Amino acid sequence: MSVLWTVKVVGLGAVALTLSLELLGRLFGRLKHRKTLNEVLFFPSEVACVEHFFTPTATHSCFCSLPHGVETSFYRLLRHILSASSSLDLCVFSFSNADLRRAVLLLHSKGVAVRVVSDKDYSAITGSQIGVLRKAGICVRCDVGSVHMHHKFAVVDGRRLITGSLNWTLTAVLNNMENILITEEPDLVQPFVKEFHRLWVLNDPAQYYQNQ
Ligand SMILES: [Zn+2]
Repeated sequence: MSVLWTVKVVGLGAVALTLSLELLGRLFGRLKHRKTLNEVLFFPSEVACVEHFFTPTATHSCFCSLPHGVETSFYRLLRHILSASSSLDLCVFSFSNADLRRAVLLLHSKGVAVRVVSDKDYSAITGSQIGVLRKAGICVRCDVGSVHMHHKFAVVDGRRLITGSLNWTLTAVLNNMENILITEEPDLVQPFVKEFHRLWVLNDPAQYYQNQ
């Protein structure tokens, strides 16, 4: 084989190898891009400052005594909730946590459509934040059935589900062993979207009084 042929064969081989690598790179890139969000959080959460979520300037200027820049379970939960850009549908039995209330109010103030379904007995207890949400103009509907509305889930932008044992209370976050699953698997998210819609319609005050 002449030297020229050898150069040609080596050259073609190099081109083929480059193309193959490029193709593989794109394929893996696409697969990586398609990876569905799935995350599990366990509580009780460590205590850390979350002020920067509410006061962006606090990232470098908060001097409270809590640790800063620590990604606790609660930090991650807040981040998922605050990722909402168009809607937050929340179905929670007990809601008394002030930071979670601040997160919901922040989303509402940014124009995110917030809807809340809660338990009628627990929404009236001391420390419940449901009244504050209502006063801020957030639509809240309480269950009118004879059984407790015991769900604890939220759907962010109709595609990210946050669900688990955790009530939105300070005790649950700091003192209880709890779990939260965050997923964007459509097969898991869609039944919760449907369940929220069912409860929202079922507990429409107008419809309820009409049926009395
Ligand atoms: Zn701080």
